[in-house]
Amino acid sequence: MQDTVKTWLTEGTVDIFLGYKMVEGHPIPHGFSRNCLDEIDEMVTGPARYSLEKFATQLLQIHPEAKIGILARDCTQRALNVLTIWQQISPGQIKTLQVNCCPSPLGSNTDCSYLQPAETGTYKAAHGVDGSQSLQTLEQMPEEERFDRWMYEFQKCIKCYGCRNVCPMCFCRECSLENKDLVGNGHLPPDIPIFHLVRAVHMAGRCIDCGLCEEACPAEIPLRMLYRKINDMMGTLFDYHTGSSPDQSPFSLLGDKPSSGLPPMTAELSKNK
Ligand code: SF4
Ligand code: SF4
Ligand code: SF4
Repeated sequence: MQDTVKTWLTEGTVDIFLGYKMVEGHPIPHGFSRNCLDEIDEMVTGPARYSLEKFATQLLQIHPEAKIGILARDCTQRALNVLTIWQQISPGQIKTLQVNCCPSPLGSNTDCSYLQPAETGTYKAAHGVDGSQSLQTLEQMPEEERFDRWMYEFQKCIKCYGCRNVCPMCFCRECSLENKDLVGNGHLPPDIPIFHLVRAVHMAGRCIDCGLCEEACPAEIPLRMLYRKINDMMGTLFDYHTGSSPDQSPFSLLGDKPSSGLPPMTAELSKNK
């Protein structure tokens, strides 16, 4: 792997390679360049707890012509597909070197959960949402109980913005969660649960289920479960499977108008109110 990175850099296949370097016992994201080839011997593959694709997107905003290589997990490829759809990167602009960080076979689209079940404790088990449960198990609870459990989780939020900051799909240059024209000035950061529901809506068709937000959350809110539900709805309603392909554009769902006069997405949502 290190030899491949050296070759890519010396031959000019990429201008920079984003990987990890151990710093005082911690794998820290690092940009390897042809000016410091010896550094590549120090490159490690993880554990990967950062979004290298987010760094790549930010680099491309400053240097749009750069050729970037990155270490990629299965979810990184899903992220690159969505970033291509949203025109944050151009097809082929980022070259990947695949590593397997989790039990799923290389190149498969199987569930790549790598998180250990959350330490639930008795109070959380009784009043909150256990992130190790399946969506189906959670949905068997009565609606009122589900509402109360999610509100218990949301109330723990300290509004640190960590979930948004780590997320590879939060690439907006202006975030509506910090916009005083959208959220009243006295309500910044937005009130609970508005903060979480706005973000959840924005993740429809965007969340690639990397789990970094949940891992970053100091309040142990099972965010991944929330966004899985949103994308489960996208799959059921629109047969849209986030990140599965760079060609599957959500905008095509707004194409032909049905007889109701509403675009298909709006018509579907109206039916399912
Ligand atoms: S799992 Fe969390 S961090 Fe990863 S893409 Fe979805 S919302 Fe973003
Ligand atoms: S929370 Fe929404 S508005 Fe803010 S960066 Fe993420 S997707 Fe964009
Ligand atoms: S990371 Fe957790 S505590 Fe921080 S803003 Fe997000 S949900 Fe709230």
